[in-house]
Amino acid sequence: MNRITIADLWLRFYLKFCLFFSDIFRVNEHSLYQMEYRKQATTQDNNTRSLPLRLLLFLAGLVVATTLFAVALDIPAERPGSAIPLEIPVRPMAAEPQPTRPSANPEPLLVTIRSGDTLSGIFDKVGINQRELHRVLKQKKARQTLRTIQPGKQLSFLLGKENQLQTLSYAIDPTQTLEMHRDGDGFRATIIQHPLERRMRFASGVINSSLFLAAKKAGLSHKITMEMADIFGWDIDLALDIRSGDQFSVLYEDLYRDGEKIRSGNILAAEFTNRGKNYAAIRYTNPEGRSGYYSPDGMRMRKAFRRTPVEFSRISSRFGKRYHPILNRMRAHRGVDYAAPTGTPIRATSSGKVVHKGRKGGYGKTIILKHGKRYNTLYAHMSRYGKGIRAGKMVKQGQIIGYVGQSGSATGPHLHYEFRIDGVHRNPLTVRLPKALPIDKKYRDDFKAAAEKMLARIEQHKGILVAQLSRQKAE
Ligand SMILES: [Zn+2]
Repeated sequence: MNRITIADLWLRFYLKFCLFFSDIFRVNEHSLYQMEYRKQATTQDNNTRSLPLRLLLFLAGLVVATTLFAVALDIPAERPGSAIPLEIPVRPMAAEPQPTRPSANPEPLLVTIRSGDTLSGIFDKVGINQRELHRVLKQKKARQTLRTIQPGKQLSFLLGKENQLQTLSYAIDPTQTLEMHRDGDGFRATIIQHPLERRMRFASGVINSSLFLAAKKAGLSHKITMEMADIFGWDIDLALDIRSGDQFSVLYEDLYRDGEKIRSGNILAAEFTNRGKNYAAIRYTNPEGRSGYYSPDGMRMRKAFRRTPVEFSRISSRFGKRYHPILNRMRAHRGVDYAAPTGTPIRATSSGKVVHKGRKGGYGKTIILKHGKRYNTLYAHMSRYGKGIRAGKMVKQGQIIGYVGQSGSATGPHLHYEFRIDGVHRNPLTVRLPKALPIDKKYRDDFKAAAEKMLARIEQHKGILVAQLSRQKAE
C-alpha cells in the first residue's frame, strides 16, 4: 500500500469525522420542529440562525481530527490537501464565512403550516419584517384568504435584497392560488385559477345486500354514491324498495389537475333498475347555466317531497295498526319508523317552516315542519336538533334538522316520521305527492338531443362491460 492511498483513506475518514462531529450536535441543538422546518426550506436552509453554531462545531471537529491525523501519520497536516481532488464539497464552506445572500434569490422558500402557527409567527421564522405582513394584509383578497390559513397547506416566499418580500403565494385549494407580488411599497393580489381536466368515468353494479356496498364495490366515491341516492331517492324509497338484483349504471366525471385526481365531479347520467322497473336521469344545464337532473321524458327528478328522511336506514315499523311494546296493547301507528344508529342525520323531506321544536310527550325531542298550506311533516325521538334550527325559521329540502336518537318513549334509536295532509295522517310511503315539473318548453329539444347522446353512451359502456365479462368467463 503506497503512501498516497493511505493518505487518501485517512482523508476520507478525516472529512467524515468533521462532518459527523458537526452533524451530531446539530441534531441536539435543534428541536424536531426546526428539523421539519429546515426540510421544507430549500436553498435558504444555510442561512437560518443556527449556522454560526454549526460552523463552530465543524471547526471544532476539524481541529480534533487534524490533531489525530497529524499524530497518526506523522506528516504535516497541510500536505494531504494535494493528494485529493479539490471538489470535496465541504472545504470551501468551512474555510471562509458563508457569503452574504445574493441580491435576488430565484428559489422560493416553502413553509408548511402547522397547527397553532400564525402568519406573523411564520414571517418571523422566515426573517421577514412584520411591516411587510401589514402591507400584504392591506389587500382585501389577501386578508380574506390568509385569515384562515390551514395546517398542512404551504406558503411560498420569494425574497429579495435584505429579506424584502417579493412574492408570496398560498394554494387555497387544488383549483386556486393566491399570489401577492411586490408593487412599489405595497403588494398586488391575484387569485390564479387552475382549470381542472374532466375525465368521463363509467361504473355499474348489481345490489346484493345494500346500495352502499354495491356502489363501493363498483368503485364509486362516497360523493357520487350520495348523489346517485339523491337523484333516485325521489322515485325509489332507498330504505324500503331496494331488492337483491337491483342494478345501477352511472356515467360521471372525475376532476384532474396535472394528471392527479382531485375529486369526483358530477353525475352526467345514470340508470337504476328497481324490482324490474327502469329509471333514468340525465344532467342538463340550460343555456342560462342552471343545472338539474331530468328523466328521459324531460320531467324533473327532484320532487316537492323526498320519500325518505334518513339515508341508509331500514324501516322497522310501518303505518297502520300494530302492537305497542310500551303501552302493551294494539294501537294505530300513525307514521313510519326508520331504524338507524343514534346520530344519523335526519333531513327535511321538503322545504318549509319550523312550526315546533322541543319535547312533545312520548315523541321526545320533536320537530314539525309546515310545507305550504296543506302539508305537515313530523320527526320524533331525536337525540339532538340540527344546527340553527329554531321555531319560525325556514328550512331547505334536504337540510339536516336533527339526529336520530331514542328520546321520549322509544325502545331503540329510530326516527318516527309522520306525514299529514290538511291535518289528516297519511302513510308517507304511499301518499300521492305533488307532481314534478317538466323542463322549460324552450329547452325541450336541446334537452332531448343531449339526453339521447348520454343514454346511448351508457348503453355503449354497458355493452363493453358485458363483452369483458363474457370474455373473462370464456377464459
Ligand atoms: Zn313510530
